[in-house]
Amino acid sequence: MFKSVSQEYQSVWFIWHGGEPLQLPFSFYRKAFDLQNKYFGKDSHRVGNTIQTNGVNIDRRLLRLCESNNINIGISYEGPYNNVLRNMTEETEKAIELMQKHGSKFTVSCTLSNETVDEQLEMYRYFRDHKIAPSFSPVVPKGCAAMDLSLVPDTEKYIKASIETFNEWLYDKDSEVPLLPYYLYILNVLGKPAFADCAHVSCMGNWLCIYPNGDLYPCAKGCPEKYCLGNINDIEEIEEAFMSDGFADILEGTVSRRDECIDCEIYRYCAGGCSVDADCETGIEKNQGPSCRIYKSVFTHIKEEIEKILQEKPDMSQYNIFVRDAILGKLINPGIINL
Ligand code: SF4
Ligand code: SF4
Repeated sequence: MFKSVSQEYQSVWFIWHGGEPLQLPFSFYRKAFDLQNKYFGKDSHRVGNTIQTNGVNIDRRLLRLCESNNINIGISYEGPYNNVLRNMTEETEKAIELMQKHGSKFTVSCTLSNETVDEQLEMYRYFRDHKIAPSFSPVVPKGCAAMDLSLVPDTEKYIKASIETFNEWLYDKDSEVPLLPYYLYILNVLGKPAFADCAHVSCMGNWLCIYPNGDLYPCAKGCPEKYCLGNINDIEEIEEAFMSDGFADILEGTVSRRDECIDCEIYRYCAGGCSVDADCETGIEKNQGPSCRIYKSVFTHIKEEIEKILQEKPDMSQYNIFVRDAILGKLINPGIINL
């Protein structure tokens, strides 16, 4: 895979996820990164990696490997509510402590279920106090949640909690953490509609998910089998995967959905949202499912807040540093967005 990708693409980002990717031995990753260096060139800046893990198997040796290869680590962790969806919380917290001591850069992915949907604000405060940047997202009816729909949060409650959390972070002068994905929405409002969470960019053709058996899918978010793009062992070039019937299927459905979205006033920021979310919520050709409604409400609220600040030019010292920097950057040079 590394060989094929290095020949066909200028730059690439690998996300190692599972299940739990760190159940694979340390030697697997050492070999993988050696192979990446072989095919992409060491320090060529053509390749990046993120390991998405519960942290249980993180140790100093792995952190050193990650540091020397510039590997990002994402921890799946819900802070004080971690036991609701996961286990081994103590081990995850030990790993976070180790990474903080080690000075490792990492973010936390925080998934909100029906049981924790009202706790987003409390979770934000917890992460802020621990100086950890959280990224919130709801459980979607895929994978385990497809078999237990009671895990999926109520849409209106999720919207309410997200707006409440954003509002507190906006005026939280002491916050040292960006709040995701809302901070990305701000950058999106201020700049070109290029910065966003993955669900709100045109992802089709940009990502490829490879299963342990070599099967290829357009995304890792539990795509149904009908969207399989073939198997890595049966193709000569990656390009062939994007010429498969599976890819044509997901692309056609996505285009139909976007046709429905075209009059939406935030279409330029959303691009019709995530095809896999739509597929499991309303059917791929339709919008107005929970993901669409959440984005529309939360993004529109954030957009209005930011536009109000730009128009009224209030005392900026009342906002958190991320908002201050982003807005001041925009006011000083309207054509440039500071990241
Ligand atoms: S299908 Fe959805 S989750 Fe997957 S990369 Fe695209 S936007 Fe992201
Ligand atoms: S918010 Fe909903 S209707 Fe608007 S572009 Fe996104 S998916 Fe389409």
